Amino acid sequence: MTSAQYSNNLEAFWMPFTANRQFKQNPRMLVGAKDMHYTSADGRQILDGTAGLWCVNAGHGRTKIVEAVSKQVAELDYAPAFQMGHPKAFELAARLAAMMPKPLDHVFFTNSGSESVDTALKIALAYHRAKGNGTKYRLLGRERGYHGVGFGGISVGGISGNRKTFGTMLTGVDHIRHTHDPARNAFSRGQPEFGAEFADDLEKVIALHDASNIAALIVEPVACSTGVLVPPKGYLKRLREICDKHDILLIFDEVITGFGRLGTPFAVDYFDVIPDLVTTAKGLTSGVVPMGAVFCSSKIYDAFMDAPENTIELFHGYTYSAHPVACAASLATLDVYAEEGLLTRVSEIAQYWEDALHSLKGLPHVIDIRNLGLIGAIELESIPGAPTKRAFQAFLKAYERNLLIRTTGDIIALSPPLVIEKSQIDEIFDTLSGVLKEID
Ligand code: PMP
Repeated sequence: MTSAQYSNNLEAFWMPFTANRQFKQNPRMLVGAKDMHYTSADGRQILDGTAGLWCVNAGHGRTKIVEAVSKQVAELDYAPAFQMGHPKAFELAARLAAMMPKPLDHVFFTNSGSESVDTALKIALAYHRAKGNGTKYRLLGRERGYHGVGFGGISVGGISGNRKTFGTMLTGVDHIRHTHDPARNAFSRGQPEFGAEFADDLEKVIALHDASNIAALIVEPVACSTGVLVPPKGYLKRLREICDKHDILLIFDEVITGFGRLGTPFAVDYFDVIPDLVTTAKGLTSGVVPMGAVFCSSKIYDAFMDAPENTIELFHGYTYSAHPVACAASLATLDVYAEEGLLTRVSEIAQYWEDALHSLKGLPHVIDIRNLGLIGAIELESIPGAPTKRAFQAFLKAYERNLLIRTTGDIIALSPPLVIEKSQIDEIFDTLSGVLKEID
């Protein structure tokens, strides 16, 4: 479809994270989706190399989820979760808690990853206060971390573009370094060998501020939105040990890594490191209905439940927390995951994925390739003075060739639905190989 055909209705929608004026010259409209493909407005089948935005884990248009949503809308369209409940919220929370290792036994519902992050940060602060440690108010994140776009999330996040135009952020936030170390780890397959010692940054920050002032550290187990930075071997375990030593809560932001992306239900399982809080969203409903969830350890939950009876334990929540339609979508999504073994399927195809991805090594402009589970990144050398331009060219060319990819800076990021077939993996990398030979 041409821009002229849309010219009457392209102005009102201020698009998120988009070059709006550029988009309007060349609108890329999606009008349908089924399984591994989108249908574009000009009638093409576009292979979804990104599961939408890292979220459509079960593939598009899953009948079971569609039916559960429409049934729920007719049966109970909305119910408040403040001092009221509905059965599916309790059923879903119990089912989710059973999927997580102990002691992550409690679930707080939100509507997005950003809300999950802000919720987890607030719970961490309130927890220390409930324990009588109210001076523990500092929050720590990492450089290049992405934790959504709420003020809490951009404060602990470490992407300058998301921060620099929005004022002072939360006070009392510090960052430790990211783990990207191309000099030692370029073209690593899976977890890099070098860099566990980056975790010792945490000791330095603790020495500076004193542990009695630090509430929590939030990290993405794999930092995805910032270009797929895979944690070096041993790094996350070391973070856990340091947090334990100093009574600092560890928060894993699993908005992307949750729900099978690494070949285990959660990154918690993959890395065998159990944090105190886990933020999720996206794959929770396979992207069908907005929903997020924060998993919380019993130690934290119990600290709140020690409050005098008949008090509200946590002054926090959303009109749409545990929305019945989202709960129904999530329960159906979990059924699909269970019936098709999708939460572990990636462990069977990860090697194939890794080999196909790394076959792009040696193509023009490629300076690094990274992967874990069903996530991949191809980093391109930037055009001097024009960062992001080269990868964006690749994005446009790939779309012309019926493949949806995502770019961040000059990094191409890939994260297809977990139902992808090997032939479709081949198609992704054949297309990309052609694209990389064609761009400037
Ligand atoms: N945390 C992480 C790790 C994410 O990847 C994202 C989204 N990509 C978010 C938080 C924010 O999620 P949302 O866009 O649903 O607010």
